Parts: sequence; C-alpha cells; structure tokens
Amino acid sequence: MDAHESVLDLIGRTPLVRVRMPDGDAGAAVYAKLEYLSVGGSVKDRIAAHMVRRAEADGLLRPGGTIVEATSGNTGIGLALVAAEQGYRSVVVVSDRVSGEKTATLRALGAEVVIRPAGLPREHPDHPVNTAARLAATTPGAWLADQYDNPANPEAHYLSTGPEIWRQTDGRVTHLVSCIGTGGTISGTGRYLKEASGGSVQVIGADPASSVYGGGDGSPYFIEAAGHFRHPDTLADTWPKSYHQDVVDRVLPVTDRDALLTLRQVAREQGLLVGGSSGTALAAARRVAAEAGPGALVVVILPDSGRQYLSKYFDDTWMLRLGFLDGDPDRSRVADAA
Ligand code: PMP
Repeated sequence: MDAHESVLDLIGRTPLVRVRMPDGDAGAAVYAKLEYLSVGGSVKDRIAAHMVRRAEADGLLRPGGTIVEATSGNTGIGLALVAAEQGYRSVVVVSDRVSGEKTATLRALGAEVVIRPAGLPREHPDHPVNTAARLAATTPGAWLADQYDNPANPEAHYLSTGPEIWRQTDGRVTHLVSCIGTGGTISGTGRYLKEASGGSVQVIGADPASSVYGGGDGSPYFIEAAGHFRHPDTLADTWPKSYHQDVVDRVLPVTDRDALLTLRQVAREQGLLVGGSSGTALAAARRVAAEAGPGALVVVILPDSGRQYLSKYFDDTWMLRLGFLDGDPDRSRVADAA
C-alpha cells in the first residue's frame, strides 16, 4: 500500500515551485517552498510536532497532559492537530486580530480557544502570553510550548526545512528569503543552508515595514503572524530566543500594501493562493531576485494558504475600507460592480 499510518507522517516535505517574477530572465530564478501543503496547512506543523516530541522526551508532557500556547494561529493549529492525534488536550490563546478562519480551524481540531484583545501592553494580565502562562501554571499536567523561546522551534527547521531545500535545489540555492515571526523558520533554515554551502547562502528577512526586526517603530500593521510589534518583555532590543540574528544577513521592510497587492496578483496570475506573510516574503524576494541577477537561485518560504484570509486580504470590501486598493485597477472593478 502507498499510505501513511498517521497524519503526523504528512508534516513538512513540501514542494518547491518556480514563481514568475516581473523582471523575467533579467533577475534570479525564484522558487517558492509551499508550506501550505503540509498537513495542517502551514510551516508551523514542523515546530509543533518537534516541540511536542522534545517535551515528551524531556518528561515535560505526559500522556493525558494539556498543551498550552499563545499563538497567531498556525502554531496553535499545528499543536491542536498533534494533540488530537496523540490524545492530548490543547488550549490556544489568540488575539482578536487573528482571522476567523484560523480560530474556526482551531475549534474544529478540538482546541479550546481563548481570545484576548489585540494591542494589550505586555504587563497586562490579559495579554495572550500572560494568559497562556497563567493557564499553563494553573492547569495540572499542562505544558507551555513557548515557541518564542523554545530551542526546538529553530531546531525543527534546522533538521527539516533546511535539508529539504538543500536537497531540492541540488545545493544550488544562493539566497533564502523568509518572514520573521518568532524567528524560528529563518534561523533554523538559514543556519542549515549557511553551513551546507560553506557560508555562501545569503539569508534575507522579509518584514512588515513597521515591525521592529527591520528597524520599524513597532506600530501596528495588518499582515498577520509576521514581524513583531515592540518586544513584549521590554522596550529595549530583546529578541525572542528563537531568532538568531547572527544567521540573518539583512532584513527588507515591506509595506502592507506591497505585500497585499503582491499576494493578490500571484493568486490571480499564477494560481498561488497564499497568505499575507507569503505576500511579504514574495515582495522581498522580487527585490532580491532583481538585485542578484541571472544565475542566482532564490528560495522563498511561503508559510501558509490564502484560504485562511479569504475574509480579509482577498475580500475587496476589506481592502477598500483600509485603503489598500487605492489606485489599483481592482478598485474601479469593484466600483463598477457596486
Ligand atoms: N507566517 C505565518 C503565516 C506564520 O504563521 C508564522 C509563524 N508565526 C510566520 C510567518 C513566521 O514564522 P516564524 O515564527 O518561524 O518566524
């Protein structure tokens, strides 16, 4: 039989596909790693499974235990999926900025979802991170996954995403472009590719323009799950432990508008239905490809699917309300239809 015994066998091992760029042959070839084809629908399946394995091995999570996490959704979905398969309870704390599609998916997978208002100061007891820590501390048998500071997060990518890209490109990859949320994806994948290439692979972060990773002021933006507002713990430069700055050569800021118009374009013109952080990464990859020129091979990680954001980025009313379609031909189409 050509079959698998568990959904956990279907995590990762995602394909690479060529993405056409506006510069055509004048720029580098760009290949996208389609993380939405992992079984839980995002790049975060990898860390969910690996963090759980590590916690079990370390005796932090025992049979019948409860997995708790504060997340922008995808890590929670990965954890809920692993929990469902392995018989754990899962409790996921999200902010109300997270799309309805993601919270509905969490509930469908059996997670208990706790929703907190977005934008609360880190000291506030209801901040998602504080809420998750409190729930983990007060629930018997609970384990807090803590993706921001858990070394198993970047390690999952060092052990899977990096080797996959190296193998899939026959070692020809010259540039890696990835968003930075916790930093796990870019740090683990980037570290592996640097080591494998003898240091020659360039690692480039793609960051929402006002996020602090790329030097922004930390003011709010609309792309979910990528970038960082002011680090929760302090106003100083304290990054999550999952983010290894030494691996990242540079960080390119991308405006919400550029990210959103890019992702709507690749959906319509190339059949790639991907999420907001993928739009951010693709917009940065376009710049990297133009700079690097022919002969270079850019791999861009696309973390999740556009299906999780149909009510936001792909909804013309949402886009118009926030002014993102100003000057865009779609705008007149919507106006005509109205
Ligand atoms: N994009 C999406 C859609 C995500 O869910 C995440 C994870 N928060 C990221 C990007 C960023 O990945 P990482 O946390 O590994 O930096």
